[in-house]
Amino acid sequence: MKSLGLVAHDACKPVLLSWVGDQLSWLGDKDLYATGTTGAQLNAAYPALQVTALKSGPLGGDQQLGAMIAEGRLDALIFFTDPMSPQPHDVDVKALTRLAVLYDIPLALNRASAMALLSARA
Ligand code: PGA
Repeated sequence: MKSLGLVAHDACKPVLLSWVGDQLSWLGDKDLYATGTTGAQLNAAYPALQVTALKSGPLGGDQQLGAMIAEGRLDALIFFTDPMSPQPHDVDVKALTRLAVLYDIPLALNRASAMALLSARA
């Protein structure tokens, strides 16, 4: 597993930042791609990771990650979704998670799944 997508809805960004901080050694040699705001926060917190920040999710970043999955350029997706808030770009969220399922790449939607993914695939 070399290329990872990282996304978190606003309420979940602190959880993703904390999870990434706990996994710095494992993530250090990965190619990391994130939606815009998630990526900016990750780069500010962990500059050494050099996360490629795409467009913000609601502005097309989710679809950019989806295109990467369709092209075989993403090996796993870690997407901490907010189960408590409606998302204006829900169709994009669904499209992204659908492509992860369709192309059968590991998909973690919360911290516990991300931990399981890491221990299974490290
Ligand atoms: P963001 O997008 O990282 O730009 O906030 C996240 C999302 O897709 O909701």
